[in-house]
Amino acid sequence: MIRLLTPDALADKVEDISVDQLRAMGVRGVALDLDNTIVPWHTADVTPGAVAWVGRLLAGGLRVCLVTNNYADHAADVARDLGVPIVAGALKPIPTAFSRALAALAVPAAQSVVVGDQLFTDVLGGKLLGMHAILVNPIGGREFFTTRLMRVMERPLLARLRQTS
Ligand SMILES: [Mg+2]
Repeated sequence: MIRLLTPDALADKVEDISVDQLRAMGVRGVALDLDNTIVPWHTADVTPGAVAWVGRLLAGGLRVCLVTNNYADHAADVARDLGVPIVAGALKPIPTAFSRALAALAVPAAQSVVVGDQLFTDVLGGKLLGMHAILVNPIGGREFFTTRLMRVMERPLLARLRQTS
């Protein structure tokens, strides 16, 4: 179980993850979380750093697919603006969320990575399918109660991970 909740790498924010780092992991496709990973909660405003980062991934020949539990229209707007496909209403960590993303990316799980801010949805969901996973620090802002509850449960695990990495 711990293995399924252990990201391959930690990053402060997505733009700290380099194309070279992803290539070294054997990654060709990126399943990218939306809320608190590239946009502050419940906005359609992707941070400028994240927009530039997605551009670098695409220019580097990597494929990118957004995967979000969010159903809101703004999620589709973000995907259109970034020029990437989206799996919305994804019900992470249920594996169908990421298997749909893998189909959109057209890469095998072992050549893909989940990038997201939550252990129990992003990391767990990806690991259940054999994907790599990189955990980023959440962009600040308001959150659902369920998300806040998840973070309380994440805290002791994250403390352990940071001690050993
Ligand atoms: Mg998130």
